[in-house]
Amino acid sequence: MNPDVVVVGAGAAGLAAAVSLAEAGLACHVVEQNDRPGGTTAHAVGSICVCLPPPDGDDSIEDFLADTARFLPADAAHLVPADLRHLLARTSGETLGWLRALGVPLTGPYPEHPHRRPRLYATAPDGRSFIWWLLRRAHQLGVTITCGARVTRLLRHGARVAGVRAGGVDLRGRVATVLACGDFAANDDLKARYLTPAAATSPAVNPTSRGDGLALGRSVGAAWRNMGTAFAPQLRFVARTGPPADEWSPALFTAGQAAGRVIPGPAGGGADEVRASGWAAMPRAYMAPAAEDAALILDTGELIRVPGAVDRVAATASRTAYLLLDSRWLPGGEYPDRRISSAPTMGFARLADYRAARPDLVRDARDVEAVAALVGVPAERLAGHLAGGPSWKPPYVLVGPARPVVTVTEGSLAVDDHLRVLSGDGTPIPGLFAAGAAGQGGLLLLGHGLHLTWALTSGRAAAHAIAARAAGEGGTA
Ligand SMILES: Cc1cc2nc3c(=O)[nH]c(=O)nc-3n(C[C@H](O)[C@H](O)[C@H](O)COP(=O)(O)OP(=O)(O)OC[C@H]3O[C@@H](n4cnc5c(N)ncnc54)[C@H](O)[C@@H]3O)c2cc1C
Repeated sequence: MNPDVVVVGAGAAGLAAAVSLAEAGLACHVVEQNDRPGGTTAHAVGSICVCLPPPDGDDSIEDFLADTARFLPADAAHLVPADLRHLLARTSGETLGWLRALGVPLTGPYPEHPHRRPRLYATAPDGRSFIWWLLRRAHQLGVTITCGARVTRLLRHGARVAGVRAGGVDLRGRVATVLACGDFAANDDLKARYLTPAAATSPAVNPTSRGDGLALGRSVGAAWRNMGTAFAPQLRFVARTGPPADEWSPALFTAGQAAGRVIPGPAGGGADEVRASGWAAMPRAYMAPAAEDAALILDTGELIRVPGAVDRVAATASRTAYLLLDSRWLPGGEYPDRRISSAPTMGFARLADYRAARPDLVRDARDVEAVAALVGVPAERLAGHLAGGPSWKPPYVLVGPARPVVTVTEGSLAVDDHLRVLSGDGTPIPGLFAAGAAGQGGLLLLGHGLHLTWALTSGRAAAHAIAARAAGEGGTA
């Protein structure tokens, strides 16, 4: 039997939409190209960034909008659609409450410069947590999820989009179709056409982010927004090799116990088989205040300051760099509490957290010769570069390797604040909605946690819009 709504993609956005549609009483069928749900969401650290205005908090939507805008380059701020930013600010707090009610473990809020108040929440073990808890609820509500079926066409009924063709089979949605099929981080043609050479030649963390939503939308006249803006590539520490580990989890578990409740992990559900990549961020925002006290070592032996470094790393033969810290980062030094990156479970991780959770990335070196040997560069060359910078104080610590990768792209289908997909002339395409990265609508989501917050929030918002139209407009959207 045909469902009310067909959702393309079983990442955070698609599953949030499916659960919300089912909660509203609509029959929903999710179609996923891969053999299991997860998408890029299952590779994510798992941070979300939330605005909690009254009655649940004392944040203000205006402050949230102003603070998130401070992450953006000045020349990009005008590209961001005000209605979608407002939707994100207005509904992210409700999304937090909804996630908690589903059982998603979330700690925080954690502060993040330049936010003027703490807004970042972390889950455990990582982005897979959202997938697992959403799948659990979807199963309870009777949502159908078909994996291993790539959508290759949108079906029309007159001007309306009326379903999809997936794996050679037509699946019609009585009320609406939602594109929640992620970004184009792994689409070499689109990357070459729209992004910088460094981004275009860097691999995607998720090799199945092919940008199908863009092509499917365009086939029915949808417009694309901000294709040329991507905060990519980013430097990320390499994935842990060997069996997946819930490496960042103990702290959250302890926090849960302290709060008097035991937090069940994903084991035993569906998403425990979804392997997270273990990539960890090394965002320049966090290294910037420490720019005089840390550097990246390239395979040439050159030392470079972290801000703006990623294109330099992408231009080297090995496309590999190590973060160099010195004794000031060790216990008893000046910076043991400085953050190196965002992290699951605890929001942000310091050197001590990396030692505990990713010991495979941390190497101690008593002097320049030891550093040079670990990186594989001539000691004299490294010593020359070290002498030219601030006064380093041995012993040293190397963290890495890190490589330039494309985590996400920002360009997407144009949508309005009901998540209706818009055609070139700005009119909604009947029956077609988009959410998450596929339905980013021109939003530029720089700053931790905003992509997942948008995925979850826009998935819910699309569902609410579809349910409202189904109830009020004779059953179609
Ligand atoms: C290493 C890493 C860490 C990150 N950490 C964070 C973080 O901590 N916080 C944050 O906010 N953001 C983070 N992000 C970004 C965030 O994970 C993504 O922006 C977000 O998960 C996108 O969700 P989505 O549901 O839109 O897409 P996805 O999660 O990618 O889901 C899309 C789904 O659609 C499926 N699909 C695609 N095409 C088709 C088709 N034709 N037919 C059927 N199915 C299809 C895909 O297989 C996929 O399962 C991170 C990203 C990476 C790579």
